[in-house]
Amino acid sequence: MSRVKVRFAPSPTGPLHIGGARSALFNFLFAEHEGGELLVRIEDTDLERSSREYEEEILESLQWLGLKWAEGVDVGGDNAPYRQTERLDIYNKYVEDLLESGAAYECFCSEEELAAEREGLLARGEIVRYVGKCRHLSAEEREAKKASGIPPVIRFRVPDNTILVVNDIVREQVTFDSSLMGDFIIVKSDGIPTYNFAVVIDDVLMGITHVIRAEEHLSNTPRQLLIYDALNFKRPEFAHISLILGSDRQKMSKRHGATSLIQYREMGYLPEALFNFLAFLGWTPEGEEEILSPAEIVDRFTLDRVSKSPAVFDLDKLNWMNQQYIKSLPTDELVGLVKPYFKESIYYEDIMKLDEAHIALIVEAVRDYMVCLNDANEHIGVFLAEIAHAEKALEVLREPATANIINLFVNDCPEFTDVDVAKAYLKKILKDNKLKPKQVFMPIRCAISGQVKGPDLPYLLTFWGRDELLRRIEISLAAVK
Ligand code: GLU
Repeated sequence: MSRVKVRFAPSPTGPLHIGGARSALFNFLFAEHEGGELLVRIEDTDLERSSREYEEEILESLQWLGLKWAEGVDVGGDNAPYRQTERLDIYNKYVEDLLESGAAYECFCSEEELAAEREGLLARGEIVRYVGKCRHLSAEEREAKKASGIPPVIRFRVPDNTILVVNDIVREQVTFDSSLMGDFIIVKSDGIPTYNFAVVIDDVLMGITHVIRAEEHLSNTPRQLLIYDALNFKRPEFAHISLILGSDRQKMSKRHGATSLIQYREMGYLPEALFNFLAFLGWTPEGEEEILSPAEIVDRFTLDRVSKSPAVFDLDKLNWMNQQYIKSLPTDELVGLVKPYFKESIYYEDIMKLDEAHIALIVEAVRDYMVCLNDANEHIGVFLAEIAHAEKALEVLREPATANIINLFVNDCPEFTDVDVAKAYLKKILKDNKLKPKQVFMPIRCAISGQVKGPDLPYLLTFWGRDELLRRIEISLAAVK
């Protein structure tokens, strides 16, 4: 078999959705596993809805996810150009061939005529389709229509009463009845080819061996097969991957939360977690493991383990995975990843004044509470705000035993040069005075932070240091005088 070559061919009419990202990922995984190549092509024949901004956003999303491709719109390659609107001349030649062989014909029906035809079909309870009014126009009739200034569309002549068979790697054999299809448009009246036509020409010329795409394109496939056959092109293999449903088993939509990949980046998900999560949307490897690195997934990815049934997008699962990935990161790496999210914090300016060691302390202190990178912001206020007392903390501070504990703490409070020094000091207080952790930690916590809950004490001690701790304690004592 020739070397595997697959493509991801987004239409730049919106951001990259979860579904699109999953299709791109499956193509990437298959190519990598097979030692093949991935290509990225832009299908921008919908002139009104396509934009360069969306194209850039899609490419950026794919890169963020960690996908790489050898050929495509941004990296170039032997089959350039990779934007369909820049390939119009290429398509024209094949349109000519189809017109010449009679496999396609010009159609001059107006919007009004088509609407009337549709109504008639609906009224008779028949399938809505183009019934072929212009199928048998003579050359003279065509010339007359053209002379009267009607711009034609070009339709593909679908054979009558034929069963079209799609042999799909995921869905096996799927059949379509050609008589329900109607002659479909391959070139619009403005001369721009339709998706169904351009996709075939491009996939053939670009040497695509496997078309892996979303299930919603399955119904387009018989039309595409007709074009392959009419032009004597070799058909590629097809694999249509199932829909992604929300947790209520309805098709994934905005109602289910964020749908575009960029939104997940903004919310602080790690690309590795999404890579892992998306790979498992419709594919299951052998074994029980759920956390797999990109290399491990590539190693195990085969299309025969891609499921026919719909995949369910389980946000709890994604959150769990993200947390696992965050947990596994060394602190310095995590600090680098969390930093951009501090911009959203009301304490941003204060954070920017801190040195690296203090920022690292904060991140280390809150990392176990984080599901997403931006969750750090929810927990850092205690470090950066001026001390303010919660009612419960004041109650603790008023307890008779508290004064004694605070004295013990203040008396020979050292400079906390790192978290280990702070841990050792707290331990020593417990040991020397035969006290229980709660007896000691709660009064100290309330006296230095004004709160009964928060990050582990050694982090707070180390972050503030001796002078600031003593200042805070003074404020707390004054508050309960
Ligand atoms: N441009 C199509 C889309 O974005 C791609 C379909 C295909 O992969 O053939 O849905």
